[in-house]
Amino acid sequence: MSIMNETGDRFLKKQHRHLIGGQWVEPASGGMFDVLDPATGQIIAQAPDGDASDIDRAVAAARKAHESVAWRGLTADARARILWRYAELIEANGEELAWLEVRNNGMPLGFAQWAIGASASWLRHYAGLTGNIIGQNASGPVSGGGAHIHAYTTRQPVGVAGLILPWNGPIGTFIIKVAPALAAGCCLVVKPAENTPLTALRLGELAMEAGIPAGVLNIVNGPGGVVGAALANHPGVDKVSFTGSTAVGRQIVAASAGNLKRVTLELGGKSPCIVLDDADMDRAIPGAAMAIFANSGQVCFAGSRLFVQRRSFDKVVSGIADIIKNMKVGSGLEPDTAIGPLISAKQRERVRSYIDNGRAQGAEILAGGGVPDNGGYFLQPTLFANVQADMRIVREEIFGPVLVATPFDDLDEVVTAANDTRYGLGAGIFTSNVNNAHLLADRIEAGNVWVNCYGVMHPTMPFGGFKESGWGREMGVDGMNAFLETKSVYVQLHG
Ligand code: NAD
Repeated sequence: MSIMNETGDRFLKKQHRHLIGGQWVEPASGGMFDVLDPATGQIIAQAPDGDASDIDRAVAAARKAHESVAWRGLTADARARILWRYAELIEANGEELAWLEVRNNGMPLGFAQWAIGASASWLRHYAGLTGNIIGQNASGPVSGGGAHIHAYTTRQPVGVAGLILPWNGPIGTFIIKVAPALAAGCCLVVKPAENTPLTALRLGELAMEAGIPAGVLNIVNGPGGVVGAALANHPGVDKVSFTGSTAVGRQIVAASAGNLKRVTLELGGKSPCIVLDDADMDRAIPGAAMAIFANSGQVCFAGSRLFVQRRSFDKVVSGIADIIKNMKVGSGLEPDTAIGPLISAKQRERVRSYIDNGRAQGAEILAGGGVPDNGGYFLQPTLFANVQADMRIVREEIFGPVLVATPFDDLDEVVTAANDTRYGLGAGIFTSNVNNAHLLADRIEAGNVWVNCYGVMHPTMPFGGFKESGWGREMGVDGMNAFLETKSVYVQLHG
């Protein structure tokens, strides 16, 4: 991939609009907002600035498509073919999409390419599941007062779903919601994060090209407090699937109360990564480093709290410090970049303030902590030791490349420490002892546990959080069930 991409460059220069009812339409306000490249801080495009009336239009278009059965009325096979074609188009345009993702989000190119391959496979997985939306029936006639009753269940799309996305993985978080929602037969209004509107718009174009009928997939950009809030509050929306911070997740729950929307929440994390003395250190040290530093730590399941068994503590932290010293911090388009920029000046300031707070509270920086002076929103990955369990850098989600390391002596101690958080999204365990691996996997309060690896995902495997990391699951069959209602039908038979 070169630094330039002709089709991507043309896309940046386009007059972008909302996608409503199969048409690209001007925002009601006529306003646009600037889209920045976090590697340079420069404006690279403009996106349509939506408001509540744009959400009204998009919800009306989705409702009309839902009622026309243009989508849910298709055979499972017909829906599957369209989802499969969508996957093919994403792969065929993968180079441009990856380039746009890096320009808008800053992530290293390899990470964007992984997201494109994963997105295509998630779409194919859900294409396969469209034929698996099946109900049940009672094993024999159901008798009610002597009558012969035949009873069965059907699964039906929940209706109009609002999908609210974060900025840290724009392509992946778009498809991880859109694919199961479409497979279930729902009609959608997507609200991308205001920092990263671009790849969602390109994915909207490809959805139209794949043959998704008008009104089934609508996209409205704009500020979260305006457009996102209008979607979360809208009485015409039956379900909201939200990925973002726990603080906004609470607002989504409050907004859903009006019409008791169904809600799925994928929220924040402060995930533990545990290294036992018997681990294969050649895997555990780089594994623990990438558990936190991938995508500059802007990953919901980032392994941001490292626990190392005492005998190995110095070896592991000095190994991670060496990795930090050798990591290239730079533009995601440069081939040897390991750490791209943070998403915005505001986010870098937020992460820096956590680093300052850690220092002020007496934690020791073993590596990193600096701010490269090269134009974009860069920050060196940072490793803290000598931390206490009540420090803010240990308790709060930083959402940046900051790791806090703590030694422990035995399994009970590390289970207590690892679970001492309001979050419960991910956990890593590095050990060569099978027994201890399974014991820890059982006792850690997290929706996803990785043993001798970190961050692996598969379309068949549900993803989600315990505790304040969320409600419900994405991916797998659970991900599609989250967009379905169950209906019980009783039929009295005569004769
Ligand atoms: P955020 O909560 O600030 O914003 C997420 C989305 O919500 C954006 O589209 C935003 O515009 C919108 N929004 C903001 N205020 C809103 C409101 N009042 N009503 C409705 N929508 C509103 O989160 P972010 O900064 O974009 O993303 C980072 C957070 O997301 C981190 O906490 C991270 O852990 C979390 N995240 C979780 C997962 C997961 O799967 N669990 C995945 C990625 C990111």
